[in-house]
Amino acid sequence: MNLAIFLFAVVLTMFILFILWYKSRPKHLSYKEEILYGVLWKWSWKKDSVVNLWCYCPKCNNALVIDDTFSKNVQNLSDKSTYFVCKNCDSGGGVIKGGDRDYALVIVKREILKNAQNLKGN
Ligand SMILES: [Zn+2]
Repeated sequence: MNLAIFLFAVVLTMFILFILWYKSRPKHLSYKEEILYGVLWKWSWKKDSVVNLWCYCPKCNNALVIDDTFSKNVQNLSDKSTYFVCKNCDSGGGVIKGGDRDYALVIVKREILKNAQNLKGN
């Protein structure tokens, strides 16, 4: 057998296997960022769980600071707000109403999982 043809067949087979593997990957694994509540969120997947979730400035891509000090002083849950502040460009900055930092992260995670579920459905 001609060596060149043999090598070509091997490469072609590997290429087809790669395509099949890539297409069979769960779609949500490539869903790793989204703008929610006015800020850019990035995360990784560990099986079906969202890990390393953090927020970034949609303008300069800098990691944001979460400020929920205001919510600590408020007793009424509906008055609590968590702010996302960019210390780099002073712009952007989203807000999630209804709770503190932990609440905000849970809300965002829930939104991401919901979107990921929709991706799986397609
Ligand atoms: Zn910024």
